[in-house]
Amino acid sequence: MLEKEIIFGKSSSKGRTLNADEHRYFQPYFQARTLHLARIFEGQIPFWLAEKMCAIVLGQHIYFREGAYQANTLRGVELLAHELTHVEQYLSGMTFLKYLWAARYGYNQNPYEVEAYAKGKYVGEKLHVLPT
Ligand SMILES: [Zn+2]
Repeated sequence: MLEKEIIFGKSSSKGRTLNADEHRYFQPYFQARTLHLARIFEGQIPFWLAEKMCAIVLGQHIYFREGAYQANTLRGVELLAHELTHVEQYLSGMTFLKYLWAARYGYNQNPYEVEAYAKGKYVGEKLHVLPT
């Protein structure tokens, strides 16, 4: 993918698909194509990502800062649900420019973020049996 080569160079990995556990957690809450198309990159982020941000989604690609995503924990599930919401937003027509425009009154006012935080929290509550 050209965009990825520009950001990371050609040596970058291709990411991974969701594993069986992740499919099981998220299958009731996301469209099948979202879970099918999402690719996870751990420890690989764009150089321009703000230091306070632990992840970013570009299209179907979810990039986590090293150690940010703890699989099979409540926090990890909430975080990945949040990022999968962004993947679904891209698949529904959001672009990075639309995202930036929506953030013009601040990150917390961005309706795409409001939706992603709500969804992350919702999925987390359904899976409250996981360790934090
Ligand atoms: Zn977000």
